[in-house]
Amino acid sequence: MDNKPNIVYLNGQYMPVEKATVSVMDRGFLFGDSVYEVIPVFGKNLLRIDGHLLRLQNSLNRISLPNPHDDDEWQAIFTDLLEKNNGEDCAIYLQISRGAYAKRDLSVKTPAGRPTVFAMVFQVTPPDIDVLSAGISAITVDDFRWNACDIKTTSLLANVMLRQQASDANVEDAILVKNGIVTEGTASNVFIVKNSVLVTPPMGRLLLPGITRDLVIEIANNNAILIEERELKEAELYAADEIWMTSSTREIAPVIRLNGKAVGSGKAGPMWKRVMDLYQQYKQQLRNGDVK
Ligand code: PMP
Repeated sequence: MDNKPNIVYLNGQYMPVEKATVSVMDRGFLFGDSVYEVIPVFGKNLLRIDGHLLRLQNSLNRISLPNPHDDDEWQAIFTDLLEKNNGEDCAIYLQISRGAYAKRDLSVKTPAGRPTVFAMVFQVTPPDIDVLSAGISAITVDDFRWNACDIKTTSLLANVMLRQQASDANVEDAILVKNGIVTEGTASNVFIVKNSVLVTPPMGRLLLPGITRDLVIEIANNNAILIEERELKEAELYAADEIWMTSSTREIAPVIRLNGKAVGSGKAGPMWKRVMDLYQQYKQQLRNGDVK
């Protein structure tokens, strides 16, 4: 939001970001006891708002934290935030922590504070299609995370460490592999293309159910592109024609080098071009308010 107001939402109030402060006793700060969402906005329209609010509800259910707002209240907060920040082509970040308790105690049964609810608008520059088509390089790394990766938690230390491994290897990202099975990226889902069939690991506790992943699957289904949601072996990465990493902010990034070797032709592939084109069309329709 260059030169634009940066008004954030904190516990029922709107204020400049400099004024928004949270207690040091907040469990989000002390334990990472909090969940979050990132919702892209095209024009003034939120991408897959229902999907994001459903995923938020699932994250809250998994940590037994009641949702502080119903869908209409969330929608009203987002609308206000976008208005106050002149927000267009941006993203909404929201975070709910279990709040500040009197004592630093893991137990959630001590006299409960109220949750801390925070939301802000941030600028995202949608990836330029030429930059995106140049592709990215990645390495495979051991996925040492826990068995609750379906929760969109702010406890992202493992992801930070895994991304650091990629930086240390001078590549953009890492594909995570658990016991020979591909799970996801450090902040994205993974697809491969083999013989014109898309393959992506199934939802479960080992990965985040990405909204972009959903969208890619929907695009494939609507356009007679074969898609399999199944266990993906690490070896299949090395034999893939194409590899993609998908996320709200990165969209669909073709991986052109993996562990220093070319993926397929070593360039963004024909299936990526086709699906990316359909994704761009969807975005434009969303911007125009023609789809949800
Ligand atoms: N997996 C992880 C670990 C992520 O952090 C993200 C991005 N938040 C994703 C997958 C992709 O999710 P989405 O498409 O909803 O951005």
